[in-house]
Amino acid sequence: MKKSSRPEFSRQLMPLTPCSECCGQATLNGLYGPRPCMACNVSGWVDAGTGKALPLEELVTQLSLRLQAAQRHINESKRSQASGPEATYQGSNRRGAGGTNYTGD
Ligand SMILES: [Zn+2]
Repeated sequence: MKKSSRPEFSRQLMPLTPCSECCGQATLNGLYGPRPCMACNVSGWVDAGTGKALPLEELVTQLSLRLQAAQRHINESKRSQASGPEATYQGSNRRGAGGTNYTGD
């Protein structure tokens, strides 16, 4: 029973650090070309606390959380740096009412 029902799935972002074996590249240069770095489960990342590879299941989640955060960041910087027709289009709703970009400092 305990084996089949897992504990509450953790969605918390864990501190990760680039793998020191492969310098975060996920692959190593072997004699016959690149080979997967098993020290980090071929992810380029290890647990910042233990310095060890995360289990695949956890690793996927952690990478997903980071990717989501990175994607949000990209979208936000796209919005703020947007120029040309798209910016006009996206900006038209935001200006005027004058709320969104005003930080009030
Ligand atoms: Zn590695």
